[in-house]
Amino acid sequence: MQTNKRIFHVDLDAFYASVEQREAPELKGKPVIIGASPGKRGVVSACSYEARQFGVRSAMPISTAKRLCPEGIFLPVRMKLYQKTSSVIMESFSNFTPDICQISIDEAFLDMSGTEKLFGTVEETGIKIKQHIKNISGLTISVGAAPTRFLAKLASDYGKPDGLYIVNKGEEIEFLDRLELKDIWGLGKKTLERLKDMGITTIPALRELKEENLKTIFGQSTSSFLYNACRGINIDIYSEKVKHSSISNETTFQEDINNKNVLENTILELSHHVMFRAMKSGKKSKSVSIKLRYSDFTSTTAQKTLDHHIHSAEEIYQQSLKLLYQRWNGSEPIRLVGIGLLSVEDINTPEQCSLFEDSFEKKKKVEEAVFNLKNKGSNITKASLLKNNDKH
Ligand SMILES: [Mg+2]
Repeated sequence: MQTNKRIFHVDLDAFYASVEQREAPELKGKPVIIGASPGKRGVVSACSYEARQFGVRSAMPISTAKRLCPEGIFLPVRMKLYQKTSSVIMESFSNFTPDICQISIDEAFLDMSGTEKLFGTVEETGIKIKQHIKNISGLTISVGAAPTRFLAKLASDYGKPDGLYIVNKGEEIEFLDRLELKDIWGLGKKTLERLKDMGITTIPALRELKEENLKTIFGQSTSSFLYNACRGINIDIYSEKVKHSSISNETTFQEDINNKNVLENTILELSHHVMFRAMKSGKKSKSVSIKLRYSDFTSTTAQKTLDHHIHSAEEIYQQSLKLLYQRWNGSEPIRLVGIGLLSVEDINTPEQCSLFEDSFEKKKKVEEAVFNLKNKGSNITKASLLKNNDKH
């Protein structure tokens, strides 16, 4: 059994907005709102703490944000810039531990177990990491430290912004009881309302419920989630097992959503994250997967294997959308969405040679041939070329 685990959850504060404020210092202290442009359909991707004071939140329709914060500075998403910044920061965590689990563009778990001799106490270590990130990027991070990933994540949220919050072994319950029920990561709105109907509005009250009673009301998976969460027992939100053959990112919504725009926008961002990680680690893949978890905690996955390697976030996005609409009726509330690349291989792995060219290669060659012929002024059509080609 693993005791004395020291897990850090590091989370950049208002990441996209902070990067924009760093790039243009005149934006510092101002309500910066990043996402769709006002007047168009779309949602808020991120916003600064100043904008949050007006009630602006991510995933909110941009029209609502404009109404709440008419003076806000509305900026488009500059994903490449954020990814570049993120990549520098994520890489720099390897100065502290080799055991890094990046869970999104601005969050990671660092397993700091056994690093006391190098960096000192948990608090000293946290300060060092925060200072280092500030020095190299000009950005602030919040750090949560705890014996498990679940509690570390809750601790960094609790300490935000610019936080350093430590939950020591034995203090788990005491810490949890400081939180509100809605702060439990992954606890959906529906479940929260159902608990409220039962008169359960605090974490200690939830802890008093017997597991079998929970099971009767919420079913197997929700009940075990609730039972474990309020006791600080590690929840398998971020699996300890890293599947080396896949690269995936997922988002749990704070509230279950069934808004098509929010979902598609989230999938677009996840596609960028996944592609970015694949490129960074020198991997390639032909298979895209999507994972959906519904409000009742049931999950579904779907995957598609293409006949060629995927080279862009846009392609991951397009394939993921197709998979989404195979698995989603457009109205059922979703609590989690994940996007992944499966069966990833080293980018230098040679393409398998087959006796026959695959259809994609063939089409590509036909396209090229048509293009060349057209350039030469020929009227030959694609169909006839294809027909010819098929005979061989
Ligand atoms: Mg963050």
